Amino acid sequence: EAMVGELSSFRDCGIYSLPEGSGAVFVDPVLVLSKSYARHRLRRSSYYARSFQTSQGGARGGAAAEEQVGDTSGASGKRKRKKKGKPRDMNERERAAELRHQEARPFLVKAHECFLHAAELLSVLPTVTRDDGSSQVETEAPPRNFIELGSVWQASHWEISLCLPPQGKLSGLREKESTQSCSNLCAVRTVMPLFDNPVANETDDDLDAEFLNSRYILPSKSCLHMSDLRRIHDLIPAHSDYGFNLIVIDPPWENASAYQKSLYPTLPSRYFLYIPVRQLAHTQGALVALWVTNREKLRIFVEKELFPAWGVTDVSVFYWLKVKDDGSLIGDLDLFHHRPYECLVLGYINSKEICSGCDVSYTLPQSNQVIISIPSAYSRKPPLGKLLSEYVPGPRPGKFVELFARELQSGWTCWGNEPLCFQDARYFVKV
Ligand code: SAM
Repeated sequence: EAMVGELSSFRDCGIYSLPEGSGAVFVDPVLVLSKSYARHRLRRSSYYARSFQTSQGGARGGAAAEEQVGDTSGASGKRKRKKKGKPRDMNERERAAELRHQEARPFLVKAHECFLHAAELLSVLPTVTRDDGSSQVETEAPPRNFIELGSVWQASHWEISLCLPPQGKLSGLREKESTQSCSNLCAVRTVMPLFDNPVANETDDDLDAEFLNSRYILPSKSCLHMSDLRRIHDLIPAHSDYGFNLIVIDPPWENASAYQKSLYPTLPSRYFLYIPVRQLAHTQGALVALWVTNREKLRIFVEKELFPAWGVTDVSVFYWLKVKDDGSLIGDLDLFHHRPYECLVLGYINSKEICSGCDVSYTLPQSNQVIISIPSAYSRKPPLGKLLSEYVPGPRPGKFVELFARELQSGWTCWGNEPLCFQDARYFVKV
């Protein structure tokens, strides 16, 4: 019966806690993200475009398909033959990476086994994650490239217009209100600069927004701040009592993958030393959650340089394990350069002040927990707010910020050079 309860709570909130001791949860990002909206839900076929294309066996696209096609080509055959020879010795860094993998491995294996034993979850997965019948969006015009738009001189002139309900409340710096009535759907339209300016939906409802003839959906109590890293200091609150209690960071780490390169620009790791994490944190402390790829060089950089520079202590590590909808891993766990998991490194700012004057007590996370999910077509990370809330210090509800965000969430400030990327109205279905 506990299982049935778990299943219905999964259908409701998108998180399935695997049995105690497994240290693992299964997450459906589409269900979790849809909780941010009052009148919309995410369109499954746009989140999982790649998996749908694969399972339909029709036209294929995305990196997975390219990799597979590549595998049958002569070039990769040569590669394979070459690999059959005597394995070359690992260098020091590779050995360190392997050691790290061996440390993580038992937790990943155990989590995956528990997931495979969750029969009732597995039995509903193909239905839950199947295309909801909403038509594909692939054939329409490509989504707007905010990175390009934000980098031209005209950027400061471009405005987003928000469609407010009759007594809607809204804030935005340099806001200029016009009461010209527009479509019959909205009573008031408010116009403000889109780039280098916070744009907030302070209402309790989803808001429609318009920018260059496209429509976007902004979840309630969310704030989007679209700017380049050069202007990240604009995010620092005027007083640290208004700082953030949860700071999620998914930096554009440099990456050899051509697929990744075509998705967004990357930056040298050293740039991230200057992210003002300490100034963004709340006086009562902040939990910092940083996504790191499996490159050993980066893990060392984070431990030895980045976290010390930011003042982050009490470090622990979670893993994001990627599976298919039949429950299998997306790839061999032991494949050296393509691990089917990524790391989330956690730590605290101001952990010493943990109990002095804190409103609510919170627990420190135990290392080696595993978040299992089916990865999306665009390498989006699973949403973390609900999973991490018990570890967040400070007043409730906490203030959450995501740096380098590509989408919005209710209750969050989302900063980056394209936080509207996945807010296009065509990625949503009205409910
Ligand atoms: N967490 C996101 C998700 O789940 O979809 C993915 C974030 S992705 C790893 C990194 C983001 O950083 C990309 O959106 C990229 O465009 C952005 N970015 C790259 N260079 C930037 C810069 N100079 N300033 C601000 N954002 C930048």
